[in-house]
Amino acid sequence: MAVPQRRISKTRKRLRRTHFKLNVTGLVTCPHCGAMIKAHHVCPKCGYYAGKAVILDGKLVKEEKPAAAKKPAKKAAKKEEK
Ligand SMILES: [Zn+2]
Repeated sequence: MAVPQRRISKTRKRLRRTHFKLNVTGLVTCPHCGAMIKAHHVCPKCGYYAGKAVILDGKLVKEEKPAAAKKPAKKAAKKEEK
């Protein structure tokens, strides 16, 4: 069996172990406010997710349906052409 040639001093051991660190994973910077946030989560600082405001003043922001909003705009455009 292999045996260490000499005893590792307390200092040598401690110097080696200074590099044993845990690194925090899964944190990204918020593109809106720049805070460190969990990946794939709404930013707790500014309430933005994927470039949109999801939470404002502690309340959920309800989205308007894009299909309903687009249809009247198209009809208005056609009427203008006629
Ligand atoms: Zn943010």
